[in-house]
Amino acid sequence: MMYDTLFLDRDGVINKKLEGRYITDFKDFEFIKGSLDAIINLKSVFNKIIIVTNQQGIGKEIMSVEDLQIVHEKMQEAISKEFKCINKIYFCPHLESEECECRKPGIGMLLQSKADFPDINISNSFLVGDSDTDIQAGKRFGVKTIKVDNNFTLSKWANSII
Ligand SMILES: [Mg+2]
Repeated sequence: MMYDTLFLDRDGVINKKLEGRYITDFKDFEFIKGSLDAIINLKSVFNKIIIVTNQQGIGKEIMSVEDLQIVHEKMQEAISKEFKCINKIYFCPHLESEECECRKPGIGMLLQSKADFPDINISNSFLVGDSDTDIQAGKRFGVKTIKVDNNFTLSKWANSII
């Protein structure tokens, strides 16, 4: 493999963000143009793909952990029925006010991934996010960081490195 681990933020990178709402049901989960194919293509150059996502909607009791897991199972199936393209999904369920260590820009989820997969080679890994807090977390952890937006999407970045 050319690269080791690809850390992806979810909302705003893989799927469209909902304005002021949380995705509690897969019917509201809409892949950003090109992101689904990008993930499959990126899997051919990365050893692992890991999602790290803040999901404060759980702390707000707008959705349950189970609701989130169903969304993630359906997302995995939509990406590939044949194999599990995303190796692991870490989520932070806490409220921002709880000041936990896992909510980005905290690096608790990234540290947990390194504990779970000790072979992760941080210096040959990337984190892709759409928020400054994603980029801050990635930098503190030591991976290369990529900020995406409506123009420079995951798909465009993927095309530039594959
Ligand atoms: Mg995001």
